[in-house]
Formats: sequence, structure tokens, C-alpha cells
Amino acid sequence: MDETGENTDVLVIGAGMAGLTAAAELQRAGLRVLVLDKGRGVGGRLASRRIDGATFDHGAQFITTRDPRFAAVLERGRQNGAMEEWCRGFAGAADGHARWRGKPAMSAVAKHLALGLDMLLETPVAALRRAGDRWHAETTTGRSFTVGTVVLTPPVPQSLALLDAGGIVLAPEMRTRLAAIEYERCLAVMAVLEGPSRIPPPGGLTPADGPIAWLADNQLKGISAEPSVTIHATHAFSLEHWDRDRQESGHGLIEAAAKWLGAAVKTFQVHAWRYSKPICCDPEPCVLVSRCPPLVLAGDAFAGPRVEGAALSGWAAAAAILDGRPVRLAVGASGPSPGSPRGPGKRMGALGA
Ligand SMILES: Cc1cc2nc3c(=O)[nH]c(=O)nc-3n(C[C@H](O)[C@H](O)[C@H](O)COP(=O)(O)OP(=O)(O)OC[C@H]3O[C@@H](n4cnc5c(N)ncnc54)[C@H](O)[C@@H]3O)c2cc1C
Repeated sequence: MDETGENTDVLVIGAGMAGLTAAAELQRAGLRVLVLDKGRGVGGRLASRRIDGATFDHGAQFITTRDPRFAAVLERGRQNGAMEEWCRGFAGAADGHARWRGKPAMSAVAKHLALGLDMLLETPVAALRRAGDRWHAETTTGRSFTVGTVVLTPPVPQSLALLDAGGIVLAPEMRTRLAAIEYERCLAVMAVLEGPSRIPPPGGLTPADGPIAWLADNQLKGISAEPSVTIHATHAFSLEHWDRDRQESGHGLIEAAAKWLGAAVKTFQVHAWRYSKPICCDPEPCVLVSRCPPLVLAGDAFAGPRVEGAALSGWAAAAAILDGRPVRLAVGASGPSPGSPRGPGKRMGALGA
């Protein structure tokens, strides 16, 4: 096993919005950060794909913001050409609230945020163990990293599985609380069309009933040169069809979308999101599982079931590490250091020593 970690203060697991914002903030504070992700690219659920010359956003469809700090991130992304406003609401339901899209597509937002970060892709973490006063992460690719601090940002069931695999036992109350976080499933169909769809401008709609939760015309959205639609199934449909043949489920969804397609489907692919959006969120913006050595759980299940919530959670995780701001402790045995009301606080600077 190839072991490293000597030059890393903080290991961030997951290069989605939460992991990227946490990593950037910690790096800005002077810590040496390494991000690991199992995917081939960054972004997690900020996902785009190309099929036969058509471009699809098949995860998050647009980004909204209420938080001024996140609004500033979007504005910087706009200035750097990584995103732009898509619209202010959809046919019949315009509400004046800005929806942002990635440019040329959603994954560009993550790529923009990942600039300047040290990152290892296609590196799935299999287990996280306690190794004295450090953490030891083992990957399925035969590498291991021993570091002082870890931020875990996969969907909560996947983070819990990494802790279980490494024999990390949470306080029962916290375990129950985290295990209660569930996610919707989503079967996403990406269909290339022979001609333009009948979805009205600006290119998104939410059917009132049936198996479809959301339909988007990627050409009208401004991200695809070819006519193409993304169809998101409802949680109920996705759950019912989860173990069935994906192509058949895709055909079913295309049939259900027929009146909005208005053109023949040239080809299609189905992506299955096991963890799509959290059904309920934890009351805290992140969870400090252990203070010494620091281990924080973050992601959209903590600060809101959206891209913005994931960013806010990433920042909360960075703040928990940098300032020892009060967040709930999950492991009874690893309580705050005696005589340190602010927890690890700026002593975290020692990580960089
Ligand atoms: C179909 C769909 C539609 C959506 N629509 C919207 C929308 O319109 N607007 C909106 O605001 N939000 C939307 N969302 C939600 C939004 O995408 C998420 O809230 C947000 O992207 C979550 O970011 P995150 O960093 O918490 O998690 P993720 O993006 O899931 O990032 C977690 C990362 O961890 C990595 N990972 C997991 N396990 C491991 C491991 N063992 N080792 C290494 N890496 C690992 C994953 O590869 C992933 O990159 C949608 C989501 C889906 C799926």
C-alpha cells in the first residue's frame, strides 16, 4: 500500500460543492489540503454529460441563492465565465428569483471552484480509521493517507459506511440522528431529439402529476448545440423502478414525456441517482464527529438540500476546523480539549507546522 499524507494537513473526501468550498476555505487559511474523489471528474451531483453532440445537465438543474456570501461566489463564477443567469422562473411560474446555470454546463461550476486545489480523482476511499492522534484513510486503489484532519462530504449513508468500515463508533444518539437522514432517488433520462422539443422557453417545467418531477430542454437552456431533454423521474417512480431494467424505465419516462417532446428520440441514456436530494436535513450546518483529531461531516444534508446548502455546509465545516466554532460533538470519547473553550481554534495552525 502506497502511504502518504506527510504534506497534507486536511484530507477532504468528496469534490462536490461541499468538499470544494471547505477545501478552498481551509487552503485560503494556510492549511495544506488534499481532496479525494471517487469520480472521474469534480462536481458530484453538479454533473454534465455529452451524448452524440448534445450536452446534458443530469444532476442539479440550476443554482439559486439567498445567502450573500454564496451570491458573491456565483458572481465571481459569472465574471470568470463559469456560470450565468438562466432565467427568473419557468413558464407560468416566473417569480423573479434568479436561476443560474453552469457555462458551458453545470460541471463547469465545480471545475471553476476546483482551480488551485490539490486533488486526486478516481480515488474511492474505502475506510477511515483512527490512528492515534491522526486519521488513516484507505482507498480501493491501494493508497492510504494519514492526516491530522478529515472533512467527509459524501452523502451521509456513504460517509457512515466509511466510518463503519474503519471501526469508528459514534455515540448512539448521534448515530441514530445521522442514520435517519434519507435521500430521494432519481432516475434521470438524457434523450437526444431529432428536432426541438415543445417545452416552452426558458426550457424547464414541473408537471403537476405523473412519474416526471422535472423536464428541461438543454438547447433552450443554452447548454446544448443539439436538441436534447433531461427528464427527472419522481422519487416514487424511481423507487418503484430502481431494480428494474433501466432502459425499460427510460422508455416509460420518455412515453410519459411525449406531449412535451414533440420530436422523435434519437438515442437516450439513464443515470440513477441513489442519493439525489435529502428528504430531511440535520439541524446543524455540519457535524464535528471528533474534535481531537478533527473529523467533520458536511454536505447538503446539513445546511439545506440544494447546491447553496452544500456550499454553506462546506464553509461551516471549514469554520469548525479553523475556529472551533460550536458544532455538535458526535463521539463522547473525543470531547473538547481541556482548558480550550474554543476547541482546537488557531492551534490548528500546528497542522501546518
Ligand atoms: C437529479 C438532481 C437534481 C437536482 N436539482 C437541483 C437543483 O436544481 N438545484 C439545487 O440547488 N440542487 C439540486 N440538486 C441537489 C444538489 O445537486 C446537491 O444538493 C449538491 O450538489 C450536493 O453537493 P454535496 O457536495 O453535498 O454532495 P455531492 O455533490 O454528492 O458530492 C459528494 C462527492 O463525494 C464523492 N464520494 C462519495 N463517496 C466517496 C468515496 N468513498 N471516496 C471518494 N469520494 C467519494 C462523490 O463522488 C461526490 O463527488 C439536485 C440533485 C440531483 C441528483
